[in-house]
This record gives sequence, C-alpha cells and structure tokens, in this order.
Amino acid sequence: MAEGGPLVRESSLGAAATLHGLAPSSGQQEDASVADAILRLSQLSKRFGQFAAVKEIDLAIHEGEFFTIVGPSGSGKTTLVRMLAGLEDPSGGEILLRGQRINETPANRRPTCMVFQSLALFPHRSVGQNIEFPLKMRGVPPAERRERAHALMRQLRLPEDYYGKQVSQCSGGERQRIALARALAFDPEILFFDEPLSAIDFRLRKTLEKELKDIHRETGKTFVYITHSLEEAMVMSDRIGIMRAGELVQVGAPDEIYSRPANRFVSEFMGEVNVLEVKPNGAGLHCAALDATFQGPEVMEDVAGGYLVIRPEYLRFLGPGETAENQVEGVLYNEYALGSRIQYQVRVGEQVFLVEKLREQRYEGRLDDRVTIGWDARDSVLAPE
Ligand code: ATP
Repeated sequence: MAEGGPLVRESSLGAAATLHGLAPSSGQQEDASVADAILRLSQLSKRFGQFAAVKEIDLAIHEGEFFTIVGPSGSGKTTLVRMLAGLEDPSGGEILLRGQRINETPANRRPTCMVFQSLALFPHRSVGQNIEFPLKMRGVPPAERRERAHALMRQLRLPEDYYGKQVSQCSGGERQRIALARALAFDPEILFFDEPLSAIDFRLRKTLEKELKDIHRETGKTFVYITHSLEEAMVMSDRIGIMRAGELVQVGAPDEIYSRPANRFVSEFMGEVNVLEVKPNGAGLHCAALDATFQGPEVMEDVAGGYLVIRPEYLRFLGPGETAENQVEGVLYNEYALGSRIQYQVRVGEQVFLVEKLREQRYEGRLDDRVTIGWDARDSVLAPE
C-alpha cells in the first residue's frame, strides 16, 4: 500500500513571503464570499488532447473550510486538485491564492500539500523519519525535528513508542495517520486529500473520517478532499462540490445538498436511496411506474417532472390500522444485516424499495410476506431532472 518514494512536495512556511512578487489578479469586483476565499478558481480548465477533463470551473474555497469534491470515477476530481496543488498545468483559466495568480507557481513554492491514497510514505524508514522528512529537508535541527514529530504523533493519536517503528510494520489506519502527520509537518496552509481512505475497511474508515474532521478543527487549516462517496463527504465537510464529466453540478453545505439536490444525479449520489420518477397531476405527484399518486415535500407548480427521493430509514412498515401520508404494498423480498441496522428489500411491481430499520425496530415477519410500507411527505426530497 505504501510503495514508492515521497511524492509529497516540499512547501514553504509563510505563504506571504513565498508568494511575494507574484502578479496580482486581473479580477474585477468580488462579492463578500469570494473576497474571503483562500483559493479562487476562475474558468479553470484542463484538456488532454481533445478531451476536456475539467471544464471552466468557477469556485471560491474559503479560509479554514473543509471542502470536499465528490464525483464518479473519471469526473475530473483528481485532475482538478492536481492543478490546485501545482502538479498539473491548467489549459485555461486562473487559480488565485488570496487574490494572486499562481497558475505558473511550482508545487514546491505553493503553501499546499497533498495526501495521496497511496500515501507515498517511505515504507522501510521509521515513523519518526517519515514525519520528520519535510523538516529535515528544510534544515531543521534534529532535536527540534524530534520534538515536532512527537507533537504531531500525539495530535494524530499515534503511540509514542511508534517513533522508531518501521512504517511497513504499521497498519493501514496507522499509515494514514503517519501520512497526515507528515503532511502537517510541512505546515501547509491548504491540505489536499486524494481519496486517502478509499483502501481502508469500513469501520476504520468511519473512525478516521471523524478523526480527520477533529484534526481539521484543531489545526484550523483549509482542507480540500476528494471522494467518490457523498456519505463520506457529508460526515466531514463544511461544503461539498459535486462533479460530473468535468463540471461542478452543485456546490453547497451538506444539508443544502441533501435537502435540495440540484438534480437526479446528485440525489443518487446520496448513497442508497429510493428514487421514483414523478410528474405533478393536480392531486400530487404521479408515479407512472407504480400508477400511484404521492404527496411530495413541496408544490411543484412550475416543474414539469422530477424525482422523488426517499431515504431507506424514512420508510416504515405499516401494521394493521397504521397509516402514512404515502403508502404502497409489496412483497418482502430480502433482508441484509448492516451492523446496528437491517436493510429490507421490498418489491412493489417492478420497483424495488429499500427500507432500513434499527435492529430493535426490526420487522417481525418472514420473507415473501405481503407488506405495506409508507413514508410522510416531509421525509422525501424532490429533485429536478
Ligand atoms: P477517479 O475517481 O477514478 O480517480 P477522477 O474523477 O479523479 O476519477 P480524473 O483522474 O481527474 O478523474 O480523470 C478525469 C478524466 O481525464 C478521465 O477520463 C481520465 O481518463 C482523463 N485523464 C486524466 N489524466 C489524463 C492524462 N494524463 N492523459 C489523458 N487523459 C487523462
């Protein structure tokens, strides 16, 4: 996992000094949210031959925020972040760091640092040597390096006696912490993370997501993070940008994206959700696939159609005499144990509904039972096409 040499670039302490003398932006009036941006992207593009991997992206990333870029494989996330870190030259547009154009500034002169999925640690050197690497390159004396490495290890919750342990003898989660400690040793202003947790098992990933959020809080640095998973992004981020085919299709706080997905593509990124194609018919939202009309979360007066999105945990099994604003009948087809929760597959005609319950609220019945499931209008979200 941690093969290869150190790809993390040397970075300078003190961005102001490093960037002194760079040409100021030719930008015009900026609004307040753009003015406090640490990084601003203007019409940023990258082409590989004829292929446009990143298409004219405008974005402002704020000082100290945890900004996550989410998108499917090939949507351009890595290319975008590599441009921001100075590892890839843009084909067009501008990257501004505190208002100064840095398009041509090499990676080692930007106050940024990248943490890769492959981590790029020295596997046969000790934890201490890995963390101290950036400090050594800067000529920091050994005693000071050691002190700083121990402080970072404490911050990253690595045991003190790991200082002399070889990285190849550390677990995946520990290596992740070592890589982060080393990145912090660069003392960058912005840390870029390219799917650092994707190779880590589910439980540990959940722990590390929270730790990363804590570390973000403790350090106050700007984090820009890439992931495939909107669920992962939701846990950590102040804001999320959703990418599709080189474009940012929605940027917003997790709650905003969750409650007002810009389109079906975004809503399907929310993980396992139920999505019903609907059209308003005067009485509510008609779903042709089920030949049923449902109540939606809002009036769709000026919307021709869209997708009703219901999270599995908002669906409930209705016993005799119980009702919900929206309900359908189907057959309990299967159940899956997901740790503290159980997920059920209920087939309603051709449509498959996913229902999730806590173990203590599990459905008491058998597979192939005829069941009625329901949800309330306020627990659904309407996404346009
Ligand atoms: P993943 O999640 O799989 O890492 P991504 O969203 O990070 O994907 P990128 O790695 O940025 O996507 O790639 C975007 C597109 O650009 C892909 O179609 C990829 O094949 C293409 N691409 C990336 N690097 C190059 C390159 N050096 N030359 C040609 N095409 C490239």
